[in-house]
Amino acid sequence: PYEHMLKIRKQNLSPALLTCYKKPLLLHQGHMQWLFDYEGRRYLDLFAGIVTVSVGLFLTTHRKVTAAAQKQLGRLWHTSNIYMHPSIQEYVEKLTALLPDPLKVVYLTNSGSEANDLAMFMARLYTRNFDFICFRHRGGYHGASPYTLGLTSIGSYKHGVANGFGCQTTMLPDVFRGLWGGSHCRDSPVQTIRKCSCSQGCCEANDRYIEQFNDTLSTCVPKAIAGFIAEPIQGVNGAVQYPKRFLKEAFRLVRERGGVCVADEVQTGFGRTGSHFWGFQTHDVVPDIVTLAKGIGNGFPMAAVITTSEIANSFAQNLHFNTFGGNPMACVVGSAVLDAIAEDGLQKNSEEVGTYMLLEFAKLRDEFEIIGDVRGKGLMIGIEMVKNKDSRQPLPVEEMSQIWENCKDMGLLIGRGGLYNQTFRLKPPMCITKQDADFAVKVFHAALMRHLQ
Ligand code: PMP
Repeated sequence: PYEHMLKIRKQNLSPALLTCYKKPLLLHQGHMQWLFDYEGRRYLDLFAGIVTVSVGLFLTTHRKVTAAAQKQLGRLWHTSNIYMHPSIQEYVEKLTALLPDPLKVVYLTNSGSEANDLAMFMARLYTRNFDFICFRHRGGYHGASPYTLGLTSIGSYKHGVANGFGCQTTMLPDVFRGLWGGSHCRDSPVQTIRKCSCSQGCCEANDRYIEQFNDTLSTCVPKAIAGFIAEPIQGVNGAVQYPKRFLKEAFRLVRERGGVCVADEVQTGFGRTGSHFWGFQTHDVVPDIVTLAKGIGNGFPMAAVITTSEIANSFAQNLHFNTFGGNPMACVVGSAVLDAIAEDGLQKNSEEVGTYMLLEFAKLRDEFEIIGDVRGKGLMIGIEMVKNKDSRQPLPVEEMSQIWENCKDMGLLIGRGGLYNQTFRLKPPMCITKQDADFAVKVFHAALMRHLQ
């Protein structure tokens, strides 16, 4: 019964857990992009278990993934990665085929935080430098482990420990809050609502970002650096996109100073951005290290770091070990996820339905003064809420909560994020349809109307 479950959650689970909604959901089962609670109510899931159910749920998960897992379940669960088994070889062969040269060496891990920890460790050993550059005050999120906490922006995860433990990172200055330039400067089909026009405003702003990045590198880290880590689109920060050319230029500047470049693809990988399989490809760069998690296993706990053989060889001077990485169950699930994305055309669907949904939500932005920005790429969409378009002050958290609750009451689950908790995040399973997008827009509209009454 519901009350008992709630009591156990409060008594016996971490009190630091986030529990969504005033009346928390007790979920029963899932089917593709839909979730069902114990009372039989159906919800369209636009948050996908925090951007993780990449290919959809079929009772427990996508039918192909379920079939692969069931087959392996009866055979072999665990050997550790000190022995060979076909599933691990088959998986890394498939995965590396999707990555450009020279990214060909895979480390299988268990979570995004662990993957980013390992990426930092590798970069430091390879370069023999220490400092890491990240968007710590600009909305980056890379995990909640002691190492990665130092990279992460969102203050509430830090427990007052600004750098995490043992992680010296360099901050980029917090000059521009929130939005990175106008939408026409970030490859968006959405018309900009900013006052500036490209020739006068945003492009200059782009140059300013790059100059600022360069200044930061020169003044804050005059010595050589270990690395730079960035999400191709910032996820937890609410689908924040960099100005065009920014990452490419940033990679160049970092490499000039001896650092390696890490793309955190934990949210942007596996076709979610639509136009490309990996988010970094949308910036026309090839990173030195790529980290993967979330959508990699459609909810099965697994993650990965992929790097070049040069970096891997420098790391191989000593052993590196984890117990669960390359677990046979995880590998068959990972393989089936890759097959499902290819066979079901999910990257293309991300592009088509994502663009459609972005444009439909952008129409609401024109209608409601409290929608400040609708942005994103593929099925990674952010709706930034403001007090009004002129002030661009974040909508107060209580108002955000009210709209969010209204959506849930009408059968729509969406995420939240942003440095000020001011952005709704839409990142559904990639099997979502245009009809679902229409439903989402309709519910969101009604949720806003109810809130504004
Ligand atoms: N990187 C990014 C971009 C993320 O969004 C997250 C999780 N929100 C992480 C890393 C950390 O992943 P995990 O929670 O699996 O440790």
